[in-house]
Amino acid sequence: MIDELNKKILEERGIDYNYALEKVKSGYPIQYIIGDVEFLDSTIKVNESVLIPRFETELLVDMLNKKIKELNLNNIKVLELGTGSGCISINISLNNVNSSITAVDISSDAIKVAKENALHNKVNNITFISDDMANVNFEGYDVLVSNPPYVMNSEDVGVETKYEPQIALFGGEDGLDFYRLIIDKLSNINSKPIIIAFEIGMLQGNQIKDLFNSKLPMYDVSINKDLNGRDRFVFAVKKVK
Ligand code: GLN
Repeated sequence: MIDELNKKILEERGIDYNYALEKVKSGYPIQYIIGDVEFLDSTIKVNESVLIPRFETELLVDMLNKKIKELNLNNIKVLELGTGSGCISINISLNNVNSSITAVDISSDAIKVAKENALHNKVNNITFISDDMANVNFEGYDVLVSNPPYVMNSEDVGVETKYEPQIALFGGEDGLDFYRLIIDKLSNINSKPIIIAFEIGMLQGNQIKDLFNSKLPMYDVSINKDLNGRDRFVFAVKKVK
């Protein structure tokens, strides 16, 4: 239940193994007990206010950083919606010097954690905003990235997510509420991002592609898979005129 590596970390940090084991047995995430996780080039503090960063999200950031390089974008302005622990924005910052990032989350407790994480990873180009993304002005960014809550309300999530903030997980009846909101808002502004990058649920790719086709036809949309071969990301790049 607790692997050797985590056992060693518990020992190093003076956290009682039996105490940890009891909690883990009840489904409590070991990451919250240890208090931080490695995420790409950063160490990210986590507590019950934030979703535990997933491996898939490392892929999202990796693919996005590659896309930014491929398109030769410099001095980029980035908007991240639903930043949680801040792991996405922090790793965009670490890979894109001279970027300027705005990271939004509705949870002020999550923003508190994200700010600490930025500080700890020596990142100082992120402006954190605690607000509903519906209230945020999307105008004028080069890159928009989001891993929004995308689980369907009716979905029976496993015990491993029971202790995580539920508002970070559930995205409405079909799980698409936040993509709809974001795409709607983008369709109503003038200066739209060059790249839009989403993490998505494995069955949502085609529906999100349809949303783009009807509301944001000026984007080329691709659906990308995670390492399990499941649809997990949508990348939309503005067509050159
Ligand atoms: N991948 C997460 C899970 O399955 C969901 C994350 C999200 O909704 N953004 O638990």
